Amino acid sequence: MNLADRNSALTIAIVFPDLLGTYGDGGNGIVLARRAAWRGIGVDLVHADSGRPLPSADVYCIGGGEDGPQVRAATSLNEDGTMARVVEHGAVVLGVCAGFQLLGGSFPDSADRAHDGLGLLDVTTRKGTGHRAVGELVATMAPDAPHLPGGAPLPRLTGFENHGGVTSVGPSARALARVVRGVGNGGGDGTEGAWSGRVVGTYLHGPVLARNIALADLLLGWAVDPSDSPGPLPPL
Ligand code: GLN
Repeated sequence: MNLADRNSALTIAIVFPDLLGTYGDGGNGIVLARRAAWRGIGVDLVHADSGRPLPSADVYCIGGGEDGPQVRAATSLNEDGTMARVVEHGAVVLGVCAGFQLLGGSFPDSADRAHDGLGLLDVTTRKGTGHRAVGELVATMAPDAPHLPGGAPLPRLTGFENHGGVTSVGPSARALARVVRGVGNGGGDGTEGAWSGRVVGTYLHGPVLARNIALADLLLGWAVDPSDSPGPLPPL
């Protein structure tokens, strides 16, 4: 496919930056938009604040935030229903930390009450019992993690983490990576993040796509070519 010939612009939505903007993860949307534009792909980058219907998009980037805004974001996204509907049609989702947790079945608030997530990724988050996980995080991609369009494996991921939640990956999702340094999912199995279909969750802030451009191109490749075996993106 000639990428510049796509007949519509790629819509990239930064989800609820007013609620989930604490860690600068909105930069993930900016990185995707720039890497698309540099390749001649038309892009519409939308800052989708809460309190309005969520727009349909090709890619959703959901960032991290505090426990209270995380609950409000999950409640609004469930009431709105757009994301679940569009993901069924192949939209790409990147969730980071709070954004990762709320993609799962349930996650805790600050009083340890469980709240419904969106159910788009088979993960469950509970409150950790030890110290909050804070610091640099390095992880190598899991052997069965997705490869770049064109077949190359992704290099190791780096970023920083800051979370109290501990996440278990269920049978319908797979771990994204294995922790080399840091905590990651924190359930004792050494895993970091999860993925299923075109939905990816991670504890890596950074923004993760600025620090790991191969991951950015993996998501972009999925978004520009909805086939099961997307071709490689032109190198930058
Ligand atoms: N509130 C969540 C936790 O502490 C998410 C934090 C974050 O997004 N960095 O686990």
